[in-house]
Amino acid sequence: MKKVLVGVLMAAMAVSLVGFGAKPADAADVKTVEAGKLHMATNAAFPPYEMTTDDGGYEGIDVEIATEIAKKLGLELVVDDMDFSSVITVVQTGKSDIAMAGLTVTDERKKNVDFTDSYATGIQSIIVPEGSDIATADDLADHMIGTQEGTTGFFYCTDDFGEEFVLSYPNGATAVQNLLAGKVDAVVIDNAPAQAFVEANDGLVLLDTEYVTEDYAIGVSKDNPDLCAAVNGALKDLIKDGTVAKIVEKYIPVE
Ligand code: GLN
Repeated sequence: MKKVLVGVLMAAMAVSLVGFGAKPADAADVKTVEAGKLHMATNAAFPPYEMTTDDGGYEGIDVEIATEIAKKLGLELVVDDMDFSSVITVVQTGKSDIAMAGLTVTDERKKNVDFTDSYATGIQSIIVPEGSDIATADDLADHMIGTQEGTTGFFYCTDDFGEEFVLSYPNGATAVQNLLAGKVDAVVIDNAPAQAFVEANDGLVLLDTEYVTEDYAIGVSKDNPDLCAAVNGALKDLIKDGTVAKIVEKYIPVE
């Protein structure tokens, strides 16, 4: 009698253990760079999408969305912080699972990685010093423009205004420092970090002009279509149930 009871109890415990450890029903059994982890390649100097915290961690819209995606797949998120210009390469070469970095979908990048659905819109914006004679994107002509290395802002500016007029820096903060030092006349960068940089530094103005509008999505290795499908499925669910909107609203409150 006792033995039977113990057996039943053990069976019940086993079921509940499986229940706790089980992946959500919609999570595919996907292969990742490191078992049990989802490695996210990003440049954590791109507020409010990704930035470092005082205690050495990471936060931001992309970090929180990726955390939720990882959870849905039964994985733990690991942030791999690097220069923006490396995020696609590390995914391509199997060192990180996803590139999530306010990453704009472009035809050129589609040759190197697969993209999920888009989860946010970015606008290439223009920061100038107070009193600048630059008021529109066309006015950038014949001026020195600061950009971030490997970004769409760099590619648009070199195409439109010529390579000799465009300098690129490892991240937005450095580009802005060079604008403040008078090394460049304007900085072209995505609107959300642009706003953060203008708020954090006196003497800068964000022009009320949309140079280029673009879609942000997550890049996944072309060699791992199952992971791309699983990440996209999780993302779709998080968009549908309002989680993505809630996270965006937390960092970019609607006025
Ligand atoms: N959205 C831009 C791009 O994809 C910049 C992203 C970034 O600097 N993190 O090129």
